[in-house]
Amino acid sequence: SVSETETTSAIHYGHFVGGDWRATADGTTFEVHEPYTGKVFGEVAACGQAEAKAAIEAASVAFQGWAELAPARKAALFLRAAEIVERRRERIADLLARETGCTVFFANFQQDLVKQTLQHAASWVYQRKGDILQSDVPGTYSTAVRRPLGVVASFTPWNGASVLAWRAVLQPIAAGNTVVVKPSELAPVSAGLIVAEIAAEAGFPPGVVNVVTHAPGEAKVIADEFFENPEVRCINFIGSVQTARMLSERAGRVLKRTVMELGGYNPMIVLEDVDIDYAVRCATFSAFFHQGQICMNARKILVQRGIYDEFLRRFVEKTKTLRRGDPQNPETVIGPLITPQALASVKERVAEAIELGGKALTGGNHQGQVYEPTILVDVPPEATVCNEETFGPVTIVQPVDTVEEAIAQANRTMYGLTSAILTGDTYRGFELAAQVKSGAVHVNMPTIDDEIQAPIGGVRDSGWGRTGPYSIDDFTDLIWVNVQSG
Ligand code: ADP
Repeated sequence: SVSETETTSAIHYGHFVGGDWRATADGTTFEVHEPYTGKVFGEVAACGQAEAKAAIEAASVAFQGWAELAPARKAALFLRAAEIVERRRERIADLLARETGCTVFFANFQQDLVKQTLQHAASWVYQRKGDILQSDVPGTYSTAVRRPLGVVASFTPWNGASVLAWRAVLQPIAAGNTVVVKPSELAPVSAGLIVAEIAAEAGFPPGVVNVVTHAPGEAKVIADEFFENPEVRCINFIGSVQTARMLSERAGRVLKRTVMELGGYNPMIVLEDVDIDYAVRCATFSAFFHQGQICMNARKILVQRGIYDEFLRRFVEKTKTLRRGDPQNPETVIGPLITPQALASVKERVAEAIELGGKALTGGNHQGQVYEPTILVDVPPEATVCNEETFGPVTIVQPVDTVEEAIAQANRTMYGLTSAILTGDTYRGFELAAQVKSGAVHVNMPTIDDEIQAPIGGVRDSGWGRTGPYSIDDFTDLIWVNVQSG
């Protein structure tokens, strides 16, 4: 099942259903473009409702067999997939950099994390399946048993495409479910088709992983089938708050479970007892990694007044040194934004902040699709950048007088994904961590962190559900089986 023909420089993929690479019924395809060059990256199947339906059917047929397959066999498949990721590392990293505009560093980082996640997932299949309960009724054998849900529909994003797509597949299937992936139309290869290719080569049974790709503007058509089809038991979404509101509403109408991994407005608090150079390094990485297109980027940096000027001076200086340009040049730190629309949106947000009285101390311009890393100060609270996640290399630095003010400012938006507190006093960091409303609090570390064993996920508007071994709660039902044996 070779999915790719390299007769031209653009790559060609069908979609993946029941272990087969297929063209759509009417043969329609769509083009995917490279963010940096604007060139055609690939041509991919433009699926519609019929293809989504067929994929759900394949996943549904595969479900029972997969759920019952011995954990040792599942683990062996995950380990084999990890080996393939390692073997294809360079090729995948190259595709990822071209399709999503991520740097070579981030592309390689993602491959390492995917490999580790696959290896770790081989142990998730051995997670405790339930509990034996102490019953008050003599002679009963009372148990709580986890059972998989059935078919899970996973919406995967373009930003951390490789890691997030694998996670959106592995977590449900390690719990015994089968999956239909709907990758973002902006990165269908990285956020879906590569996963299918590796799953097929590793020998995953047909139908366990299916991928339906769709043209821009057609997401709703695929989603319609996911909601209408009773075989789909869970909508597993990684994306924006705005889309999540709509999907949650629809899921409510048909009473399907949802797992939501959404955006954030992640604050970094810098207290005046900190090592300023360390804080600047954390801030630079947190604010600008992947051009600010990670849900965990620091959107606002709250700095205690005593070190505000000095921190800002060094942060601006450091930011000016970040190399911008072609993501395939290994020296590049800041690559392109994903689309011209994304660029326009970042420009608009910054222009509004400046119009309202804010100042850009560095950045504020762009060369092609590459937006300069930008530090804003004096931005009034009504500006959109102060309230909404802005998916680009733009951060706000704001002085605070007290720790209480820092906490209040950190909790100002309804988002709650990650946060960071930088302080020379670790104990105080611990104490303050309890007061910040976010799904992860990093003390003396950047806002961006990813570990395979950690429960990553949001609170409040940033969603619900947790990654890694904790995802078992999201992708199983706990059933009470109570047996009277006396
Ligand atoms: P992002 O800006 O990160 O791409 P979005 O929330 O816009 O976040 O998109 C996330 C996913 O939601 C994408 O896979 C997209 O195809 C999908 N999506 C967008 N609009 C709809 C819709 N009306 N119905 C279902 N899915 C949608």
